[in-house]
Amino acid sequence: MFEDMHNDHILLTPGPTPIHPRAQRALMRGMLGHMDPEVFALNREIQADLRVMYGTEPEAFTALLAGTGSLGMEAGFANLVEAGDEVLVCANGSFGRRMAEMAARYGARVRLVTAPLGEAINPADVAAHLGGVSMVAVVHGETSTGVLNPVPEIARLVRRSGALLTVDAVTTAGMEPFHMAAWGVDYAYTGAQKCLSAPPGLAPVAISERAFARFSARRSPTPLWYCDFEGLRDYWTRHTYHHTVPVNLHYAFHAALGAALEEGLETRQARVRRLGRAVVDTLAPLGFSHYVRDPAARLPTVLALRLPPGFDDAGIRTALRRREISVTGGLGPTAGVIWRLGLMGEAAHFAPYHALMRALESLLGERGLAERFEEAWGGVPA
Ligand code: PLP
Repeated sequence: MFEDMHNDHILLTPGPTPIHPRAQRALMRGMLGHMDPEVFALNREIQADLRVMYGTEPEAFTALLAGTGSLGMEAGFANLVEAGDEVLVCANGSFGRRMAEMAARYGARVRLVTAPLGEAINPADVAAHLGGVSMVAVVHGETSTGVLNPVPEIARLVRRSGALLTVDAVTTAGMEPFHMAAWGVDYAYTGAQKCLSAPPGLAPVAISERAFARFSARRSPTPLWYCDFEGLRDYWTRHTYHHTVPVNLHYAFHAALGAALEEGLETRQARVRRLGRAVVDTLAPLGFSHYVRDPAARLPTVLALRLPPGFDDAGIRTALRRREISVTGGLGPTAGVIWRLGLMGEAAHFAPYHALMRALESLLGERGLAERFEEAWGGVPA
């Protein structure tokens, strides 16, 4: 039962993240039509801001798809893959495997490059399987394990091969370095509800000229009419009707992305790292440890922590939920083994994690936990 407003609920999950106050306020704005000139002006600002967020070429095409991150994923395969194409998918977690499943549904012959759970994809394994491949797909930050895949290194190899590169930037864009043009990424997507702290329901995408050239050379139209790249350009560039975009979500997204750029992408990266260090320093004496062994492979925005022996994972998370704090456990083989703490967007601040430490202090009978967190952070923010 949906009992109250949950206005004070603290979401520390690896998505969705708490909605940015400016985005929340923007949701109150009055409705305008999707063909209104003011909405087109707002959309243009969103497109420009997305170019900055993704680090694209100055004129690259960016847009919002009306759906979640998975639609962003699906649109890439639907538009850029045809039956019989060889697609190499880096799959070292559940979202990499989702990519592989989607590629297969669009008729690709899928080659999998995997890595043991909790480890990053080895670029040498990608290099070894690139022959004849028309697209490589990789998840930048694998949410299911807290692993950061080496996208710049993979991109260097893919560029030399002539294949397109699709990157899932769901846990990275807006909070972690992402340089689409400099790295040579052709298609990138995220979900509004992750690093940007906008409401769920929009998938911001960026598409390179190379990707558009591949799309234009298709032998048959994409089976996914809703996200046809040309249909997107009809609305976002030519301002002709394609489908009714969710204008209110655009308002909120515009506000959230604007706030992120105002704060500065590098400041946000530093904020996540500082918080991650403070959380680990606070919890390590209790027996929590990094799940991802290689420091270079740790995804700063999804902190995967191995639980101490005997830790009552389900019981503690249920007790936290009663105190309006949501924390996420592991998935599949890591269920009961790890916690995945979201350090994205509005969750990545001192206050929500201080509240978690206070709650754990009383639930675990660990006196001084919140104080240790304050020290690790470097004092209580004013
Ligand atoms: N890719 C990654 C890395 C994710 O973490 C998620 C969601 O958690 C998705 C894709 C799918 O996004 P959505 O749940 O918004 O469809």
